[in-house]
Formats: sequence, C-alpha cells, structure tokens
Amino acid sequence: MSEFFLHYIWQFQYFQKEVLKTTAGETLNIIKPGIANSDAGPDFAHAKVKIGAIDWVGNVEIHVKASEWYDHKHDRDPAYENVVLHIVWENNKPVHRSDGSQIPTLELKGLIEPQLIKSYQTLINSSLTIPCERSFVDVDEIIKHAMIDTALMSRLETKSNLIMERLHSNKGDWEETTYQLLAENFGFKINRDPFGQVAKELPYKILQKHRGQRVQIEALLFGQAGFLLAKTKDEYLTNLYNEYQFLAKKYELTPKQLSVSQWKFLRLRPANFPTIRLAQFAALVSSQRSIFSTLIELLDYEALVNFFEVDQSAYWQSHYRFGKKAKSKIAGLGLASIENIIINTLAPLLVAYGRSIEEDRLVDRALRILQKVPSEKNRITRLWQDLGYVSKNAFDSQGLIELYNNYCQRRACLNCAIGSALLKPNSR
Ligand code: SF4
Repeated sequence: MSEFFLHYIWQFQYFQKEVLKTTAGETLNIIKPGIANSDAGPDFAHAKVKIGAIDWVGNVEIHVKASEWYDHKHDRDPAYENVVLHIVWENNKPVHRSDGSQIPTLELKGLIEPQLIKSYQTLINSSLTIPCERSFVDVDEIIKHAMIDTALMSRLETKSNLIMERLHSNKGDWEETTYQLLAENFGFKINRDPFGQVAKELPYKILQKHRGQRVQIEALLFGQAGFLLAKTKDEYLTNLYNEYQFLAKKYELTPKQLSVSQWKFLRLRPANFPTIRLAQFAALVSSQRSIFSTLIELLDYEALVNFFEVDQSAYWQSHYRFGKKAKSKIAGLGLASIENIIINTLAPLLVAYGRSIEEDRLVDRALRILQKVPSEKNRITRLWQDLGYVSKNAFDSQGLIELYNNYCQRRACLNCAIGSALLKPNSR
C-alpha cells in the first residue's frame, strides 16, 4: 500500500462509506473531503466531517500506518494541531494531540474494493512501456484529448519557466534571451552546447551593431566558435580571419573562444554540419534588426516559416567546411528544421512572454501555431500510434511526448486523467 494511493482514494472517496466508524467506535460522516495541499502541512485542508453528533472543520492527514504520525514528528508540529481526521491504512497505534486528546482515525483497510487495489498495483508495477496499453482503447476519446492538452500545457509551462530563469539571468533582456535560445536550437541535439556557449560569450548587442554586414557577423560567430585560428589558402576564411582579428580586439572577445574540437561533425549529414548551421544563423541574425520584437509580432505558422527561410552566404552554399567544396548547391534551413525551432523555441517563448505580460492571447497563439505544425515522428509518437492514437500535429505530438515521459514513465497514473478513468470503480 502507498500513501499516494491513499491520497487518491480519499480525494475521490473511492471507499465504502456506508456506516463509517472511527477506530474509537464513533459514527463518522464525511461531508467534504477537503482540498489537497501540495505544500508543507497536512494533506487536505478545509475538510468537513461529522463525528458522533459534532461537526468538525479542519485538516486531514493521511498515512499508511498510524504510527507514522510520530515518525514524521507531527506531534511536535503546531501545523498539525487542527487535524480533525487521521486517515490510515492500518491503525497500529493511537495518536494524540499535544493536549492529550485522541485524534479521530479512520482505517481504510477493508473499505477499498480489492479489485481497485489490484488494478492500481497492476498499473504501477507494470513492466509494459505504457502501463495502461491493454486498456487504453477502452478510455473515452474525450478523456484522452483532455489529458494530452493537460500534458502539453504542463510541457509548455516547464519550458516557459526555464525561459523566465534565463531571462532573469539576462537581466530581463528578451532580445538577448531569444538570441541565446535560438542559437541553442540551431545546434539541434548534437551541437546544442557549443552553439549555446558561442551565444553566451558573444552578446546579441554586438551582432546587432553589424546588422546587414553578413561578413562581420560570420567573422564574429565563426571566430568565437573557434574556426578562425589562422590564415589559410582559402581566401574566404582569410577574409573572415582578418575581420575577426579586428572585431575580437574591439569587443575584447578572444579569451572566450571555443575550441574546434567542441563541435561535432561525426554521423551528421553534411547539410547539418555546425559550419552550415552557423552560416544559417549568421544569415538570420544579419537580416533582422531585433529578433524577439519581430518574432513576437508574427501571427501564424506561415509567417514564422517565412522568417526562418533565409539563405546562408554564397560561400556556404558551395562549401560544407572551410576549404571543402560541395558537389552541389547546399540549401538553406529546411522546413523540418524550421518546424523544430517553432516547436522547441517559438511556442515556449510565446507562452513565457504571454505569461510575463499577462496576455493569454499569446498562449493561445502558441497553441494555434502548434496545431498547424505537422506531428513529430519519433519512437514515442509511434508507441501511441500502436495503441491507436494517431498524432495529427505538433500540439498532439508534444502532448504525447510529455505524457509518456512525465506520466507513463514515472508511473504517475493517479495524476493522469486516463489512469483515473481506468481506475474509477464503475469503469471496471
Ligand atoms: S500515465 Fe496515464 S497514459 Fe500513462 S500509463 Fe498511466 S494511465 Fe496510461
């Protein structure tokens, strides 16, 4: 038995409630189970119960064994003085308040349907990848959609909180924060860290001074990334090298360079090489006066795709690396990459900004845009597809990824609407 399960049982009152008695033999009527408390203190607040002839309003505390009251030192904590009912699985010890009065106790052992306990244990002890996979099909589609919405919002809120932390460390500068987030996203999974480091050591404010001067912006980015260490026979590199020598001194950047070895090329298709991504990022930064202010005004998916459809400079359309010519023209940032940026940076950014200025329409816009982006296709979306849930767009796929990672994997079925539907006594 777990305390968490007892919380769930108490919250939804899934136990036999006719002719209840406390362990002291007094009649017990539950008028209100109270409100779950996720902070310190008793588990439920504002509960209302009738014990004998007296109505009590106060807190409810839950334990598997009554003796845990003393193990957790509640007897010395004034926050527990107003507990009007102690819910336990097993009443192995009487519990008293500091004034010596006994706390009324309800023992749940024997009051919960054995089938409910069994279903719960089957879910949380399951070795299946998605514990409810055998009964998933039985759950109403409306409940599934609602849970995916909840999971998606939770994912966006988590990402938005991280953005707010970043904003804080950037002293409230949304432009700098957006630039850093985009840089990391341009590194995708493999080169996210070095891209992030370049952006952190090369402030956006410096790049903004060179707007429209793509050579200077490339020199700054490639120089900071550690690619411009010496002149070579490659004329373009030498040109960037000279620019960087001058700019690095001007902005005092040199000691903060990365090493080329920090960049990963292995197992990447040449079109995804970090050199190409840096050139594409340079093109984007060079073409915009202020990234954040422009992005935040873009109302729909099409406008966002347009924003990111910039071609890298001519050199990087014919070279994958410095001095290495490509056989055919190298395309600009592709649609799949743009959609990845919309999903992972743009939507959370809109939510974070919307929350910070208390504008729900920005959150709605983020959700609308995600509904326009095609679904991601990965191992997790395929798992759900095998259970019959086909993700239609990125709104669904992001919700399904969150549901899988933060609910199914953690066996948090009691926090999941699908799990609640499956465990509801009359659903089995
Ligand atoms: S968390 Fe929800 S969807 Fe995942 S296994 Fe549990 S009940 Fe099923």
